[in-house]
Amino acid sequence: YYDNDTIIYFDGNFVKATEAKTDLYGQSLHYGYAVFEGIKSYKTPNGTQIFKVAEHYDRLRFSAETMHIPFSYTIPELIELSYEVLKRNNLSDAYIRPLVISSPNMGLSKAKESQLVIEAWEWNNGYLTNQLRVMTSSYRRPNPEAFHVKAKVSGHYVNSILACQEARDKGFDEALLLDSNGNVAESSGANVFFERSGILFTPPKDNILPGITRAVVIEICKKLEIPVVEKFFKPEMMKGADAAFFCGTAAEIVTLASLDAVPFCKKWVDTYSNQIQKAYSSLVLGKSMDSIGNKLK
Ligand code: PMP
Repeated sequence: YYDNDTIIYFDGNFVKATEAKTDLYGQSLHYGYAVFEGIKSYKTPNGTQIFKVAEHYDRLRFSAETMHIPFSYTIPELIELSYEVLKRNNLSDAYIRPLVISSPNMGLSKAKESQLVIEAWEWNNGYLTNQLRVMTSSYRRPNPEAFHVKAKVSGHYVNSILACQEARDKGFDEALLLDSNGNVAESSGANVFFERSGILFTPPKDNILPGITRAVVIEICKKLEIPVVEKFFKPEMMKGADAAFFCGTAAEIVTLASLDAVPFCKKWVDTYSNQIQKAYSSLVLGKSMDSIGNKLK
């Protein structure tokens, strides 16, 4: 992720990643009390562009406010800082990781102060050939009565690590997690859609991290006149469907080969999911939503 030359933004300054220091006595490290984002930039015909950058920083601010972590940066400031981190590290296709940590405080009261870190590293987009073999996790997503699941909080990702590791230990690539009621929720780090008889289904926003990619997928579907239904469903409804995909900033649109070893039926090229994947790839490379609709018609 970094080497001796890597520059990060850290609490007001651009510094070498190897020289940045934080306190070992703090709520973020001890309790997972921090908020973050995962953002991607792309090399486009108009130079390096950060995809949906304002939306990501809106969510970061929402996450900080929800968690009572002080956060005073404006969205334009955050966008400028992000481009500057990319520039200082000579990055185009990159993953950008802003993190807001609580410091210094060790008690169980809200953060008194916070520090913003923005890191970035190179990202190679080789994902499109992936076909994930997914298992239904024995771990449930955090209960919305216990956590603010719509906020992107560091501590929530302990659940993701457990689910992901369980899947790998059992010979799968990824986990599909259910919510506390046993309905399909999301993956360890992405939202989920499946396709059956020409309709795309996805869980409603209630018990998931409402992804920015998920919103883009819904927009693409509107544009391409692909019906989308947001509803609760059990994993049985998804198993053996025509197609399915995970979507997220890092994952982009990634094809599922099977769920619990039951394959999805249709050839990927014959699915709406394939069209959505293609449309998403051109959007991140700077094409407008209008051009996508026209191209596929
Ligand atoms: N769910 C979880 C648990 C995630 O970690 C992510 C990645 N941020 C997503 C969904 C997808 O969100 P986005 O499309 O905004 O990256």
